[in-house]
Amino acid sequence: MIGVRASRYRHLAIRSIHTPTVPKLYLNNVELSGNDLRNIPTHELFTKFGFIHHPKPGLVHWLPVGLAISQKVSQVIHHRMRECDAEEINLSLLSSSQLWQETGRWDNTELFKLKDSSKNDFCLVATCEEEITKLVSSNINSYKNLPLLYYQINEKFRDEKRPRSGLLRGREFLMKDAYSFDLNEEAAMETYNKVVDAYYEIFQDLKIPFVKADADTGEIGGSLSHEWHYLHNVGEDTLFTCDECGNSSNIEKTLSFPEDVDESIDVSVQYFMTKDKGTLVCAYYPTERSIEPSFVKEEIPDLDLIETNQDTILNEFSNEDTLISKKIIRIMDSRLNLRSNFPDFPIKFINRSLITTLTDIPIVTAVENEICAKCEDGHLKLHRAIEVGHTFYLGDKYSDPLKCEVEVPNTEGGLTFTNVLMGCYGIGISRIIAAIGEINKDSNGFRWPSIIAPWNVTVVQSPKFDNSKGSLVYELLNAAGISYRLDNRPKIGLGKKIKQSHMVGIPLTVILGNQFPLVEIEIRGRRYTDDLQWKRLYETRDFEWEIVTDAEGNDIKHLVHIDGVASAINSLLIDM
Ligand code: ATP
Ligand code: MG
Repeated sequence: MIGVRASRYRHLAIRSIHTPTVPKLYLNNVELSGNDLRNIPTHELFTKFGFIHHPKPGLVHWLPVGLAISQKVSQVIHHRMRECDAEEINLSLLSSSQLWQETGRWDNTELFKLKDSSKNDFCLVATCEEEITKLVSSNINSYKNLPLLYYQINEKFRDEKRPRSGLLRGREFLMKDAYSFDLNEEAAMETYNKVVDAYYEIFQDLKIPFVKADADTGEIGGSLSHEWHYLHNVGEDTLFTCDECGNSSNIEKTLSFPEDVDESIDVSVQYFMTKDKGTLVCAYYPTERSIEPSFVKEEIPDLDLIETNQDTILNEFSNEDTLISKKIIRIMDSRLNLRSNFPDFPIKFINRSLITTLTDIPIVTAVENEICAKCEDGHLKLHRAIEVGHTFYLGDKYSDPLKCEVEVPNTEGGLTFTNVLMGCYGIGISRIIAAIGEINKDSNGFRWPSIIAPWNVTVVQSPKFDNSKGSLVYELLNAAGISYRLDNRPKIGLGKKIKQSHMVGIPLTVILGNQFPLVEIEIRGRRYTDDLQWKRLYETRDFEWEIVTDAEGNDIKHLVHIDGVASAINSLLIDM
């Protein structure tokens, strides 16, 4: 055994060591049984434990433990965003109505709107495409200024009609949003992929299994979008994953084929028209299924999804005199064939040559176990999921109305203005915290991945511990950069402090007792990998280290000599 050096004690006696302690109101009056921990909803535990407080549904006050977790998540994101050369900015949280009117988003019912004393309209930012596009457009003039990639981490505000589960759906929440500006589509795709790679790194760092899913681009159409999800039944999204090709997609984006076609099913029709009102689109689908208009739009890009009134649409095609200049497209869902029993065609005397018929097009919402349209081989599995991030190629959706353009040399030797092409990239930091809390909760409480735990080690001192040796331990922990807190609450027993540290979800508890210089390290919960890195250190150790295992052979406790405590802790944390 390696002895404790006396010189350290002398040195320490003349210097006071800063020892971080648990927050003042740490678990104030919290008395919970294992049953309570299992049954009380996660968001209520967040407030009972004093991580956060909701002054009103959807609003949040961050208390020390919750704030520490959110700062850790932010650190992970900062690190990976900087690595992909994104520059940090911080935009105002108030935005004038003018820009939102220019992009047509001022009427969005989720905006929190307010007036200044001169009755000018503002909103609290829900997202920042408008502001960043304006900002960039007023700061660039030449293509030489591109590419640009900015990110920020701050509050966003949305007047959610149903704020839900605390941080999961707040009216105020912490978001990392990033925006890219490129000269052409090729460069914009390169940036998009660079940010996608950063997202992979971020979600891998957080250690919770995640899914990147093809997502709907909504009104923008034709562009590229992915959502980043944690699969869990509290989620509000529905995803399908293919058991063959592994592709994941949001239900709004999942195309599927039937296993076989049933000719006896009832057929319904929904009418659409193109934006130029020149083509009537008759979409036929099984009555028992839900038609997905965006799938029809994938076939007919010019489709008008806003005008849905069936009489209004058919009226446009009721005048026999003008019908000659119009076209009709019949789209049949893949679950139908020409022998299916179709409803009557509403337009009479039509010249048959003006009708085009498209068959075997998937236009209804997928259901579980249908065939994946991506690989046409595997079957689709359905999952509930929590959307924690979104990456979006925007093209010129914002740069066009807000005139974010640059001069580019043209072939005639002059200069032409061209719209900058944009991408936007969000991550919900508060939602990630709510989701990981939910996913990792067990009958002992929370279990934070070490990279985002509010601190990694709770230190407790048994009454038998010789207090004068404490400074040595804290100096070692400080020097090794270990994130720890001393639980120095008076009148709370050792056993309870250990249990509560596990309950809060701190990865390790260090117990200083009468066996010092041997120190006890207790493990909270299971690891994220089987490849336990600490074993490598254990095999080459030059200090005393004993392991206590449970009935299944899992290490639950480590007894480590003080000389090796810092390195043992750091190696244990790698897999936690
Ligand atoms: P949702 O469909 O859940 O309402 P969204 O698609 O409107 O979310 P985005 O505009 O893509 O959300 O925002 C980017 C990220 O911000 C989301 O992926 C999510 O993690 C987070 N987020 C969005 N709305 C909220 C909210 N009300 N509370 C907490 N986080 C949110
Ligand atoms: Mg989204």
